[in-house]
Amino acid sequence: MSFAAFTRPGRFHRGNLHTHSNLSDGRLEPGEVCRRYAAMGYDFICLSDHFLPEYGFPISDTRPFRTNRFTTLLGAEVHTGAISHGDPWHILAVGLPLDFTPTAASETGPELAERCAAAGAFVAIVHPEWYGLREEEAATITSAHAIEVYNHTSAQNTARGGGAYMLDALLCRGMSLNAIATDDAHFLVADAEDFDSFGGWVMVKAEANEPDALLDALKSGAFYASQGPEIHDMRLEGTTLDVQCSAAVAVIALGRGSRSVEMIGPAQTAAHLDLTRFAGDWCRLVIIDRAGKLAWSNPFQVADAS
Ligand SMILES: [Zn+2]
Ligand SMILES: [Zn+2]
Repeated sequence: MSFAAFTRPGRFHRGNLHTHSNLSDGRLEPGEVCRRYAAMGYDFICLSDHFLPEYGFPISDTRPFRTNRFTTLLGAEVHTGAISHGDPWHILAVGLPLDFTPTAASETGPELAERCAAAGAFVAIVHPEWYGLREEEAATITSAHAIEVYNHTSAQNTARGGGAYMLDALLCRGMSLNAIATDDAHFLVADAEDFDSFGGWVMVKAEANEPDALLDALKSGAFYASQGPEIHDMRLEGTTLDVQCSAAVAVIALGRGSRSVEMIGPAQTAAHLDLTRFAGDWCRLVIIDRAGKLAWSNPFQVADAS
């Protein structure tokens, strides 16, 4: 099988899909948030302010901050109702129209997610660990394209930044979901301004650094998530996976339950993994570098062993 992230034409574009400005509870103006990401070498961001009545249901119009090498996707973090612990739903929608209709009080989380997807958005379940989202609740968001396996702000502020456990549980239920890493930056710490930024991102393969091309690539799964390491190539022939990556101390294939195959070494830039034990089921790749930073492939299906 082929992986969209590595077979599509184009190049990788580095982006942060989840970040806030002072249009909701972030500290910086939208233009300043964009300027900082562009200065750090990002190709794009989505400013995803909280789509709530107290902020006037903002969809940040970041179009004026696009340049010839930096672009923006329009979107929001939408909320409604309450999950079992009492917190409202948090759902990321990347690629919303500026006139997206405000959330109705009666709208459920799954209904709101579905409306975002119907409006053209790439929809993600966010920071499941941070707010104790339960598996059976996450499983109701059937229109989600992805789940945050890493949320940098949740990791930095509360040591609850993970989401891979939830991804695996949902894959075991037969859901089809990809893996994103995001910052969810708010820039709230004035004397440590990058405390919650530049820690988790996606690398999206697209022919142009244009919103439509990036959104199409996101929905097609043509990306991987990272805190630092790079995945240069993945090829699956039968049950053999060949990986090329930046220097890694561990190259790991993970599947249902405790199933894993790993190659450990001081600075591996290529790995050859036998995925026979995942035959007929899902699998995903994780790379760890010497600094302990991770990169995550999207999940994929391994063919039945013949
Ligand atoms: Zn949130
Ligand atoms: Zn957020």
